[in-house]
Amino acid sequence: AARPRRLDVRDLHAWYGESHVVHGATFHVDRGEIVTLLGRNGAGKTTTMRALAGVVRTRKGSAHLDGHDLLATPPHRVARTGLGYVPEERGIFASLSVAENLLLPPVVRPGGVSLAEIHALFPNLKGRDRTQGTRLSGGEQQMLAIARVLRTGADFILLDEPTEGLAPVIVEEIAHALGALKARGLTILLVEQNIRFALAAADRHYVVEQGRVVDEFDNTTLRTDRARIDAYLGV
Ligand code: ATP
Repeated sequence: AARPRRLDVRDLHAWYGESHVVHGATFHVDRGEIVTLLGRNGAGKTTTMRALAGVVRTRKGSAHLDGHDLLATPPHRVARTGLGYVPEERGIFASLSVAENLLLPPVVRPGGVSLAEIHALFPNLKGRDRTQGTRLSGGEQQMLAIARVLRTGADFILLDEPTEGLAPVIVEEIAHALGALKARGLTILLVEQNIRFALAAADRHYVVEQGRVVDEFDNTTLRTDRARIDAYLGV
């Protein structure tokens, strides 16, 4: 039988209390792909990720990761399916060092990225073990947040706006690191607003509007058909 898609999301709905925010999102991510969710503020991209990660619990529809039914998986078991979630706010613990932040989440699966590999991916973190998490720059905190999830053995990573507020040179470093992770066989779903980064880092792109996936771009169409994407993003 054919292997299931890495991530297969069909007609996903999600709510905050009574507020219906994701309205039937359908998309997929294949093994080894980097895919973005693009869209305006408030379109429902973050909520889609939270619903997949299991931290928004009021959901309907279907979402499978390697055939595992994510909507039937309790939040404390999601990491064991291989899913790692790096939220927009990064979640670096202020009173812990870089090393302590990195070692905090338990390794739940084989294949976790070693510290040596993390230092090769993110040279800024090298030699910084004893630095307090909050003394890192925004870009370094983002790198630490990604590295922390990689340590656990996650090989399907949800990354929410990793480039938000970062300098262009750091954005390039993060794009480079994601390329290295893809080469290592990881699969990544990104929320992004930065088209340049999306082009540099990803293979395919979905547009989210009012909680639905309304269009899809490959890198060629995203690069050449600026009018079409700008109309969605309101640039
Ligand atoms: P952004 O880039 O601003 O995060 P987004 O596309 O990721 O945009 P969401 O964060 O998913 O959008 O928000 C979708 C809608 O849900 C918005 O209208 C937002 O105000 C609402 N929303 C977000 N978080 C909550 C919450 N905790 N409780 C209630 N409503 C929320």
